Amino acid sequence: MDCIFCKIVAGDIPSRRVYEDAETLAFLDIHPVNPGHTLVIPKAHKVDLFDTEDSDWKSLASSVRIVAHKIEEALKPDGVNIAMNNRAPAGQVVFHAHVHVIPRHEGDGYTPWHGKPYKEGEAETILEKLKSVS
Ligand code: 5GP
Ligand code: ZN
Repeated sequence: MDCIFCKIVAGDIPSRRVYEDAETLAFLDIHPVNPGHTLVIPKAHKVDLFDTEDSDWKSLASSVRIVAHKIEEALKPDGVNIAMNNRAPAGQVVFHAHVHVIPRHEGDGYTPWHGKPYKEGEAETILEKLKSVS
């Protein structure tokens, strides 16, 4: 398969490995927001969150937590962002599921997103829709 992260898992493309277990691999992002920015991926090819089973997600989440703790202890950042882009409109560029673990520092200038307030009645409608599915 022509997937850059599958090639990283296979060792066909070099990466700076931070952590790995049977199901997951974590390596330094080649273009970090801040030094130590790490990507955590399932070793099996999954396109995005919606392509994962609950068990895939649990092992990924567990490794994200381990990596976040490593970053916290080793790099002593002021904060840490956990982010995942799913599908192109959400900013996904590499279509092998990955979670970003990003060390943050006061005044580093990186802004994940700005929110805006709900319009009148909008929150209630959205909440009803969300509650209507299992
Ligand atoms: P996305 O926008 O899909 O969530 O993020 C993809 C990330 O993968 C980007 O932050 C990018 O810097 C990183 N990336 C892309 N190609 C490579 C690569 O070959 N090696 C590593 N280590 N990171 C990569
Ligand atoms: Zn892949």
